[in-house]
Parts: sequence; structure tokens; C-alpha cells
Amino acid sequence: MEFDYDPSNVFARILSGEIPSRTVFENETALAFHDVRPQAPVHILVIPKGPYVSIDHFAAEATAVEQAGFMAALAEVCRMPELEPGFRCIANTRETGGQEVPHFHVHVLGGAPLGPMLS
Ligand code: IMP
Repeated sequence: MEFDYDPSNVFARILSGEIPSRTVFENETALAFHDVRPQAPVHILVIPKGPYVSIDHFAAEATAVEQAGFMAALAEVCRMPELEPGFRCIANTRETGGQEVPHFHVHVLGGAPLGPMLS
């Protein structure tokens, strides 16, 4: 599969500093920040800094260092005390999968009982 990254997407503009975000955690290869339209009391987005459209693009083409950095950032977010009772990680992928922003991201949601996944 070919992956075509659009560098004008909103998360690329957050990474360049053009659009502000509320940063939760940052390392060399990944950034975590609050979603602007939270769907739960805690709603964080974790993104790689590299130009990857989707989780399968990231898995296929990101370096081991980028993948490790991303997982470290995700793990850091998952350790937030508010998430300790339980949380959910989601990576919407492509239009059919409900993805709106074409830069790979994992939603981390929690801070309240979430109910069944597809409700
Ligand atoms: P998707 O549907 O999985 O692509 O989710 C994209 C998410 O990005 C949505 O939950 C939006 O609320 C969120 N979002 C869009 N623009 C911004 C922004 O500028 N800052 C933070 N979150 C954003």
C-alpha cells in the first residue's frame, strides 16, 4: 500500500508550532497533547513527530527509534493518575475507520466509566 502524507494537516501545524496545543508530554519523536473537543474527562492525543498518515503507515515505515519513542510517549500518558482505574486507546484509520486528521494519532480516553466500545 502507498501512503500519501498531507503536510498541511492540523497536527503537522501543531508540530511546526503554527497552531498551539496543550502539551502533556514530549520526547524526541512523539508529542502528546489534549484533544480540543474532549470525548471524556481525560482525552489525550499521542502522535509521532514524523510524517505518517496512519497506524499501518507508521508500522510499515517508521524507524525502530521512532516506534520506541512513540510507545514511550503513549506509556507515559497511560501512567496519568486519572487513568489508573481504566482507559481506552483508539487509532481511527482512514475515512472508513472514522479518521479525520490524516496524521497518525492514538486517542487515550478515560477519567470516567466509558461503557461499551461502540456505544
Ligand atoms: P480522528 O477522528 O481520529 O482523526 O480524531 C481527530 C481528533 O483531533 C478529534 O478528536 C479532534 O477533536 C482533534 N483535533 C482536531 N484539531 C485539533 C487541534 O487543533 N488540537 C487538538 N485536537 C484537535
